[in-house]
Amino acid sequence: MTRPTRSYAVQSPSDPFAPFSFDRRDLQPDDIGIDILFCGVCHSDLHTARGEWPGTQYPCVPGHEIVGRISGVGSAVTGFEVGDLAGVGCMVDSCGDCASCDASEEQYCEKTGFVGTYNGPDSVLGGYTFGGYSDHIVVKQRFVLKIGHAEADLAAVAPLLCAGITTYSPLRHWKVGPGQKVGVVGLGGLGHMGVKLAAAMGAEVTVFTTSPGKREDALRLGAKEVIVSRDADQMATQASRFDFILDTVAAPHDLDALLACLKRDGTMVLVGVPDSPHPSPNVGNLIFRRRALAGSLIGGIAETQEMLDFCKAHGLTSDVEVIPIQKIDEAYDRIVKSDVKYRFSIDMASLTP
Ligand code: NAP
Ligand code: ZN
Repeated sequence: MTRPTRSYAVQSPSDPFAPFSFDRRDLQPDDIGIDILFCGVCHSDLHTARGEWPGTQYPCVPGHEIVGRISGVGSAVTGFEVGDLAGVGCMVDSCGDCASCDASEEQYCEKTGFVGTYNGPDSVLGGYTFGGYSDHIVVKQRFVLKIGHAEADLAAVAPLLCAGITTYSPLRHWKVGPGQKVGVVGLGGLGHMGVKLAAAMGAEVTVFTTSPGKREDALRLGAKEVIVSRDADQMATQASRFDFILDTVAAPHDLDALLACLKRDGTMVLVGVPDSPHPSPNVGNLIFRRRALAGSLIGGIAETQEMLDFCKAHGLTSDVEVIPIQKIDEAYDRIVKSDVKYRFSIDMASLTP
């Protein structure tokens, strides 16, 4: 038994989005069915839909910043009830018994790799998974998050499921807190959450941006200082000042200019995944101040719940521009131009004919 589901999909890297119908699986004992209310638009959706990363299967239904209302629970589900608000992020499954899964770092699953909410292998129906640009999703309980925010905030909560956790996780892992100077590179979906979260953790935040027009927004979001990264003179004033830099940029760029801003023993973490490599950094920049360059992938399920609870406690959501699904191609074009303030969130009611 399956459930007919409406969505928007692309049929090839160059096609616009168009309505697409497919079937979700019927509820298995440990499954939760969710009627989707809002879905955030991540740059990863764009990389995938437009074939910028290898391996996209078409038709492709992106979307991994999902919030909605539970419409059904399988016979073995506990702790979730029909009518509850719930969220789904980038993952819908993992092996469940490797060292990373045991540590609730499912994104680093060592046996099967995590199963993506879209474009991942579908172990029940075969084929591959379809994401949140759709009216309904069925997900194993282990990958469903509880949403404590008010229903009125849901459009702005959706982006926490990827942009929120992808920035929260490295800030926590590298123990960012009061007394530290933190740089956030790129004021887009991830970056603006990085600013809010690092500021809420007590750090002093500087934004590095290529868009001088985002200065006022950066300050409003919690930054103390804004540096235009393409201005060499402004960059020179930042040498050796930062304990930690979070680089969220989705395109290849010069890492050396940013690494030079780290103090001795400072760390720069890359979360952006450009479709072609960054120019290789100068190792001298690392060696002479014992600096570290690292990467980080989303965050585990337990940490995602912790992040949602942290955001609720601190009154944090994403800054969103709510769009109907019919405007998704236009939204993608604006994301490419760095013209997103600061996350698009699709109102799934727009799927209704
Ligand atoms: P986004 O909303 O498009 O934001 C990226 C920002 O980077 C832009 O707004 C822009 O900010 C800056 N930028 C763009 N082009 C640039 C260039 N050529 N040089 C310097 N800066 C540039 O994207 P996002 O949704 O935040 O995602 C960012 C990246 O993270 C994507 O590659 C995405 O796939 C990846 N991602 C990774 C993970 C993970 O787990 N590691 C999770 C989610 C997403 P300014 O205007 O301020 O310069
Ligand atoms: Zn994402």
